[in-house]
Amino acid sequence: MTYKIAVLPGDGIGPEITEQAVKVLKALEKDGLSVELEYAAVGGAGYREQGHPLPPETLEVCKRSQAVLFGAVGDFSLDSLPRHLRPEQAILGLRKELNLFANFRPALVYEELADASSLKPEVIAGLDILIIRELTGDIYFGKPRGIHIVEEGPFKGQREGYDTMRYAESEISRIGHVAFQAARKRNRRLCSVDKANVLETTQLWRDVMIELGREYPDVELSHMYVDNCAMQLLKNPKQFDVVVTGNMFGDILSDEASMLTGSIGMLPSASLNEHGFGLYEPIHGSAPDIAGKDLANPLATILSAAMMLRYTFGQEAHATRIERAVKHVLANGPRTPDLWVEGKAKVGTQAMGDAVVQALAAV
Ligand code: NAD
Repeated sequence: MTYKIAVLPGDGIGPEITEQAVKVLKALEKDGLSVELEYAAVGGAGYREQGHPLPPETLEVCKRSQAVLFGAVGDFSLDSLPRHLRPEQAILGLRKELNLFANFRPALVYEELADASSLKPEVIAGLDILIIRELTGDIYFGKPRGIHIVEEGPFKGQREGYDTMRYAESEISRIGHVAFQAARKRNRRLCSVDKANVLETTQLWRDVMIELGREYPDVELSHMYVDNCAMQLLKNPKQFDVVVTGNMFGDILSDEASMLTGSIGMLPSASLNEHGFGLYEPIHGSAPDIAGKDLANPLATILSAAMMLRYTFGQEAHATRIERAVKHVLANGPRTPDLWVEGKAKVGTQAMGDAVVQALAAV
């Protein structure tokens, strides 16, 4: 079977890092993986080439593929454009058009990098958690929303901003099923995070998760309030296996969890729809300060390709092999400047990609 992948390099370091992930996928071809790649412009590159951050042709390329490998978007020189033409709009457009409602962010601490975190090594060494965030609902999309002038009461005449937190039952159960199934593939523990003591929306969230839990008796379901979860992630992050939460709480908690690992250049992510179609990207941005200088760490993008093999293509063995190769390089090989420590060889983006390809032979 040949897997069709849309490759959207984007802006800044995007092209350099996606090139390394493509190199790794291609290297697996001699071990039986078959991929067909189709490139398309997105973000600032999309705007410059075709007048829109998400050109219709790019969306078509994504729709006729089984997965998207995404670099990064963002170009400060285009920040004065109207909002709908700015590079970052491409991500929101892709999420919406492709119905990517489930965001997976693993936070994994490689032993070799345990001292790169701002937390004590004993708190985070061996950390391996997965945060699953609902991506298309909640207060970010709820209506009504806006800013208006208050007509009566103590705030009469003042401007007032308002948003609506809402989740329909089916939106909660959809992400719930994804999370229970992901927990089944790991250590079978799922923590659902809400604020059910204060918010009706998240009381419903909790009720639906409890109902779903009856369908997954083999997964241990627990519940935690979001404020406590924010504390526990710093105090004892290893207590978690899979965490599932809504869009806003997930936005904040997944960024917090990613920082436990200490290095932005190491963290992959996946955004999936209900058919397993996924967009895979590093969590970092286009890093304009280092773009084109062969300084960027490509490992987050290479690890995103591994997630693609696991979650969209079901190729667990190839996925694990990439992850082992990355681990092997971190233990024995060179480092890009963001991870460099005394005693290691310092290399650029290209050479780091080559090192992972070479390490495939050793794992
Ligand atoms: P950033 O993630 O691009 O960079 C933050 C810092 O981390 C910079 O110092 C950068 O050099 C460094 N960094 C990032 N990735 C790295 C890597 N792979 N290797 C080594 N160092 C790395 O965030 P920013 O500077 O706030 O934003 C830059 C642009 O990216 C903005 O236009 C922003 O809107 C956009 N952005 C895009 C995405 C995305 O495409 N998903 C995400 C976040 C930000």
